[in-house]
Amino acid sequence: MKIKVLKFGGSSLADAEQMKKVAAIVKNDRACRYVIPSAPGKRFSGDDKVTDLLYRCYELSCEEMDITGVFEVIKNRYRDIIKGLGMDFSLEDEFKKIEISILNHAGRDYVASRGEYLNGMILAHYLGYKFIDAAKGIYFFDNGTFDAERTNTRLSELLNKYDHAVIPGFYGSMPNGTIKTFSRGGSDITGAIVARAVGADIYENWTDVSGFLMADPRIVDNPKPIDTITYRELRELAYMGATVLHDESIFPVRHARIPINIRNTNDPAAKGTMIVSRVGEEKDDAVITGIAGKKGISIISIEKDMMNAELGFGRRVLQAIEDHGISFEHLPSGVDTLSVVLHTKALEGKRESVLAAIRKAVNPDVLNIEDGYALIAVVGRRMVAAKGTAQRIFRSVADADINIKMIDQGSSEMDIIIGVRECDYENAINAIYREFDR
Ligand code: ADP
Ligand code: ASP
Ligand code: MG
Repeated sequence: MKIKVLKFGGSSLADAEQMKKVAAIVKNDRACRYVIPSAPGKRFSGDDKVTDLLYRCYELSCEEMDITGVFEVIKNRYRDIIKGLGMDFSLEDEFKKIEISILNHAGRDYVASRGEYLNGMILAHYLGYKFIDAAKGIYFFDNGTFDAERTNTRLSELLNKYDHAVIPGFYGSMPNGTIKTFSRGGSDITGAIVARAVGADIYENWTDVSGFLMADPRIVDNPKPIDTITYRELRELAYMGATVLHDESIFPVRHARIPINIRNTNDPAAKGTMIVSRVGEEKDDAVITGIAGKKGISIISIEKDMMNAELGFGRRVLQAIEDHGISFEHLPSGVDTLSVVLHTKALEGKRESVLAAIRKAVNPDVLNIEDGYALIAVVGRRMVAAKGTAQRIFRSVADADINIKMIDQGSSEMDIIIGVRECDYENAINAIYREFDR
């Protein structure tokens, strides 16, 4: 029999009504064996995600401030779900344990992880599935990176004992037993890890949109859905800001070639987007697959006459940046110029020191940091074969009266990345979308 692993995002589990939709989806198909819930997300615009409330509790506890008010809001979110589902079930003992741990200065990751832990308990009980604490099967190394092989062995053994189980998303445990979370949105990764461990036929990722769309629906009106996309394209788009799926979700499933299907909990009839390793026969001839981007980018510009003749120039600049624990995004260069494109956030508290280190390393003629940029990636597996794609991108942006600060093309020729000012970000994405939406 087929095995399906299903991950439900925060909006799919935000309240009792959403939980009922989730249960209907799971119970409708006997192949739905393993379910990964997120913490309750926003019920309406302006609402809080439980995970954010938990982070707030943690911060309050660090400042020795009262957490009662915020913690009460969290408890009520779960109480409302339990009541709305008409369940004979209580989490009051769990609430007490968690509150005491927070007051005793439990770690940040432990506190954040309780959102999925509690939601997992409710969902398991509601579905009549076994609840399996992710701390007992998902492991990290001492340095905080994910221990894929130990996890896979242990989790396979554990899950094979149960025909049906609920495993909360977002976290696992460190070698010393403390809780560690993935980065934000990490329940997507848990779903992929479980899919690999049980040898799933498919990993269904249920969210609030009917699949991966050609662009962020908050920027472009009614973008077209993407029918099929490759893991590589997905990774580019997700890394560049299409948050619908965490960019690291493909790693556990890629080798096992388990397809990911993005689905909509609010529209289960829609077939959504399939993410696969390779697309067979192309039915679609659209040149680009999608557009994504992110704001909060800074550019360090370095100029020096005869830079090209100075052996090791680039290496010394990058060393200065690496010594500050910062990784860079792009490195466009000219004969006598070099730019380092990076996240503005990474420079926090380090600006002057980074500039001083670069000055010392290469003694440039001009050196400055400019903030307020955004990156936009245009991604498509068919771009390699299509002539004139770059020209169409640049022309559409120029016609919208937008200046391009930086251009980069990946070696796979599957993406073209441009840098624009943050104030031009939305207009540039719309201009590119219109150009290719024909
Ligand atoms: P979940 O809580 O289910 O994990 P997320 O909020 O993480 O859901 O991701 C879904 C959201 O991603 C959508 O509601 C949409 O606003 C946003 N999004 C950004 N880019 C895209 C895109 N290209 N296609 C679809 N959704 C996108
Ligand atoms: N609840 C976590 C977050 O808000 C993880 C997730 O939803 O995937 O980031
Ligand atoms: Mg998400």
